[in-house]
Amino acid sequence: MVKLYNTLTRQLEPVTSEDGVFRMYVCGITPYDTTHLGHAFTFIAFDVLERYLEFCGYRTITVQNVTDIDDDILRRARQVGIPWRQLAEQETQKYLDDMQSLNVRRPDHFPRATEQIEQIQTMVADLLAKGCAYERNGSVYYHVRRDPDFGQLAKMGYAEMLATANERGNYPDDPNKDDPLDFVLWQAAQPDEPTWDSPWGPGRPGWHIECSAMNLRYLGPCIDVHGGGSDLIFPHHDCEIAQSEHHTGQQPFVRYWFHVAMVRLDGEKMSKSLGNMLFISDLLRDHTADTIRGWVLEHHYRDAWNADGYRDALAAMQARLDRWHAALALPGVSGPALDPEPYRANFASAMDDDLDTGGALAHLDTLAQAIESAAADHDVRAAQETLRTLADVLGLRLERA
Ligand SMILES: [Zn+2]
Repeated sequence: MVKLYNTLTRQLEPVTSEDGVFRMYVCGITPYDTTHLGHAFTFIAFDVLERYLEFCGYRTITVQNVTDIDDDILRRARQVGIPWRQLAEQETQKYLDDMQSLNVRRPDHFPRATEQIEQIQTMVADLLAKGCAYERNGSVYYHVRRDPDFGQLAKMGYAEMLATANERGNYPDDPNKDDPLDFVLWQAAQPDEPTWDSPWGPGRPGWHIECSAMNLRYLGPCIDVHGGGSDLIFPHHDCEIAQSEHHTGQQPFVRYWFHVAMVRLDGEKMSKSLGNMLFISDLLRDHTADTIRGWVLEHHYRDAWNADGYRDALAAMQARLDRWHAALALPGVSGPALDPEPYRANFASAMDDDLDTGGALAHLDTLAQAIESAAADHDVRAAQETLRTLADVLGLRLERA
């Protein structure tokens, strides 16, 4: 049975589905700059979760949003002197190319925020009607103080919530707000910004509301797995919970919260603002996708890690994969069959244990060694097929470079 750590309960929990389907959402990119390794860690982890649930016999429906209207996009578009839509579109395409190169599967639905304006406005109007939100000078805000459950995911006190939100895009000094922690659902038009008409005047959606709207539209009021980087736990995901549960009246909005840790470089979280980034497109110039994926998956999705010394780590991963390739190339067609079942079972028990991909990779090393030792006088074809199948669960193609 698959167990995952649920951020909401802070516990490992058995993962179940009554109808055999997992409805899964992962917060996607704000397309204004190139995909770096920190993003890739999140999307590879989510991709492996999806592949493993399917390996266990479940069906998955996946959604990933694109925040294609945002302060960062508008600022960057002004800097480089191109229309914001063009910037968003070209960066989204680069992201998709990077993910395809890394064998990250395309989500079933890949909606843009700008395509959800109607659903977003419906939700904002309903939150106003229910008294969960207020309109001020053309902007609409969520009333945090009226919601005693607000912050259930982050489990922080008010002061810590406010400090964290302020580091992550909150404007505490906005004079329209009743409380500095109130967050914007709809923001009134600013000079030179794209706007959409609304019952509250021209404006554009706040960031958090788009994910609530897309979850509801594509997956319904209660979804199974919601993923994202651990820096989204607060405020983004707590805001999503507040909006969605008050709008639909149904709880829980999400059954399992799946958060992926940060990647560091030079001692700091890899980020656009610090400029300490490894870009996927650069790594792909010198390394195969399997090598990059394998290296990333040596790290547990919940543990922050350092990418310093990445050249040595990638070379070591390449050497491991070379041994697998060698095992797959051995003839080994006569004699008793090498039974792959114990290796498959070990792989599965590592993956069942909160996606221990590092352990799973080690079991594939062991299987490759067993094939190598047995090939002289065993039929290893079934074992070779198992190695390929299990590698595929990790998204490793095992093609010769
Ligand atoms: Zn989101």
